[in-house]
Amino acid sequence: MKKRVMEVIKRKLVQSMNEILETINKELSDEIAQIESDSVIGDIVDKANSILEMQIYDKLTEKEQEKLQEISDALKRIEDGVYGKCVVCGKPIEEKRLLAIPEAKMCIMCKSAQEKKKA
Ligand SMILES: [Zn+2]
Repeated sequence: MKKRVMEVIKRKLVQSMNEILETINKELSDEIAQIESDSVIGDIVDKANSILEMQIYDKLTEKEQEKLQEISDALKRIEDGVYGKCVVCGKPIEEKRLLAIPEAKMCIMCKSAQEKKKA
C-alpha cells in the first residue's frame, strides 16, 4: 500500500476515534483527551488501549465500544505491518474499500460470505 494512502487511512481512523471520544470527552482526563493525527502509531495504539481499559468505556454505547475496538485493532494492524490484508483469506483488501471503511479487516468477498451466513 502506498504511504500516502496509509497516511489518509491513519488520519481517518484517528478522526473517527476522536469523534467517539468527544461524546465522552468530559469524562476523560487531559492526557487522553484528544489524539493527534500526526502521532506515532504506537502512541495512538497505547492511548486507544488505555481508553479501552478505563471505566469510561462503560459510558459508550455498545456500538461505539465495538467501533473503538475495531479502530484500535486497525491501528494495531498498521503498527504490525499487516494492515490491508483480509484476516480470513489473507488477500489484500481493495484500497477503495479501506478508504471508505478504514477499520475493515475483511475483503468484500469474505465479508459478504460472513453476512450471508448470519442471515
Ligand atoms: Zn477475504
